[in-house]
Amino acid sequence: MTTRTEIALTVANRLDRSVSRALPAALVRHPRRCPACGYSGRFSTAWALTGRRAEAYCPACHAAERHRLQALVVDVLSSRLDLTTMSMLHIAPEPILAKRFWNEFASYTTADLVRDDVDLNFDITNAPLEDGSYDVVYASHVLEHIPDDRAAIAEIHRILAPGGFAVLPVPIVCERTIEYPEPVESEAGHVRAPGPDYFERFAAFDAVEVFHSSDFSEEPQVYIVEDRSRYPNRHAPFRTPTPGRRHEDMVPVCTKG
Ligand SMILES: [Zn+2]
Repeated sequence: MTTRTEIALTVANRLDRSVSRALPAALVRHPRRCPACGYSGRFSTAWALTGRRAEAYCPACHAAERHRLQALVVDVLSSRLDLTTMSMLHIAPEPILAKRFWNEFASYTTADLVRDDVDLNFDITNAPLEDGSYDVVYASHVLEHIPDDRAAIAEIHRILAPGGFAVLPVPIVCERTIEYPEPVESEAGHVRAPGPDYFERFAAFDAVEVFHSSDFSEEPQVYIVEDRSRYPNRHAPFRTPTPGRRHEDMVPVCTKG
């Protein structure tokens, strides 16, 4: 059900995006640059039920902080490895990165539990795929939706080819991971609030390299800028308060030896 508040938030998001796009980059004090599309100028605010995130969206391609950080991480991976020889499985594919992956990898397959705009439909906790099927598995902001996430991680490890890697970022919103007693609708159905300790669940992999916002320059603005001292609240009932207004985002790259 769409509430009046949600309609107001949608209008605020669109308005902020239009204003940002209309502002010439020369008039912006600290212009940002989007690594996903090359846009330069002001980033727009995200107005959401769980709170406001400053400089969240690229108004040109709608890349959020996480997409921009991931685009930078893929740049690093691309400089180290020949991605053009590798096969990728992209779970719950985001259009912002999908086009790039389709062009960059030797083969590109998309999958989702229910969506009909993907190549395969399956449950990632029980994937109908052979062991070692893909060189790369990419699942961004997926595991926080899955109650039995450990089964999903085990399946991702199984279907990954030796020498391959999985990119498995989740929203890092608390200091320690909190398991929710039930999915939270106002958090897009999340069943937990991950903290940096969440990456300990990737122990089956041979190595986990975590890229942080602070590994990159200020220009792409890859921090989450929001007030988390206001948790818990009605729309984030199980989160705990975190001090500060600028929070590191993280992208774990898990290698299978
Ligand atoms: Zn962009």
